[in-house]
Amino acid sequence: MEIIFSQLDENNGRFQLAGCSTPFANSIRRAMIGEVPTLAIETVKIYDNTSALFDEMLTHRLGLIPIRSNEECLVPQSRCSCGGEGCPSCSVIFTMSVEGPAMVYSRDLISQDPRISPAEPDIPIVKLIKDQKVVLEARAVMSVGREHAKWQPTTACGYKVHPVIQVSDKCDGCGQCVEECPRGILEVRNRRVAVIEGQLEECSLCQLCMRACMNTGIGDEPGIMVTTDESRFLFVVEGDGSLPVREIIGQALEYIRTQSSELSAQIEEITGETRDE
Ligand code: SF4
Ligand code: SF4
Ligand SMILES: [Zn+2]
Repeated sequence: MEIIFSQLDENNGRFQLAGCSTPFANSIRRAMIGEVPTLAIETVKIYDNTSALFDEMLTHRLGLIPIRSNEECLVPQSRCSCGGEGCPSCSVIFTMSVEGPAMVYSRDLISQDPRISPAEPDIPIVKLIKDQKVVLEARAVMSVGREHAKWQPTTACGYKVHPVIQVSDKCDGCGQCVEECPRGILEVRNRRVAVIEGQLEECSLCQLCMRACMNTGIGDEPGIMVTTDESRFLFVVEGDGSLPVREIIGQALEYIRTQSSELSAQIEEITGETRDE
């Protein structure tokens, strides 16, 4: 198996995964979305809320704020020695006290742990007019996206099968498919259609080019064929700021490895046969 990155920065990653099956590619996607622990606000004590939002709306908005977390300083609540009660090892307390007129932003959540804070300081929560107030205490806990979407570390996470575009001798370079391609990745070169250098990954597999070619009356088969390579996948991962994308991918792969080892061990125990890793 091979992973080749074409982009990797704090919040965005694009990579090609080669030499694996579709179920395996999908398990990586699911692990990134649902099995990488992050922090999110779970309980809120509201001392004063005279804003235009009901308490429920306000707490819902607080729950969706990405919180910059670090697994080295906290453990997921399900694995914590407190047994899920909530303690400084698996949760962190934030306080907020804002009086109008003002816009309440995520930066107004003051963390008791200086290593932890909202991932973005400028997320608007509610607008207060004169004499309106929000005073509360919120507890964020570590958990995973499988429990609730607010713990997902990704805002976008998906893949497509790698496209394969072949041009046959039937192509006369008429350019009809070039006009039709919505991604603009085709060109006529030496009287034959070809993919523009470095643009193949942009193909959406819509096959409009094949249809355009058939409409020229070329015969039974189009001059351009768009198929897929079922062992190569193009991933796009966008983080919400709670973890760097590199960390999301690393933790997801680690999760799959641990789960696979546990499954192997259990199969060995049942069958008594040793299996290769
Ligand atoms: S593939 Fe078909 S539509 Fe495209 S340039 Fe060749 S002949 Fe024309
Ligand atoms: S399949 Fe769609 S995106 Fe890909 S080359 Fe053909 S028209 Fe363009
Ligand atoms: Zn705990």
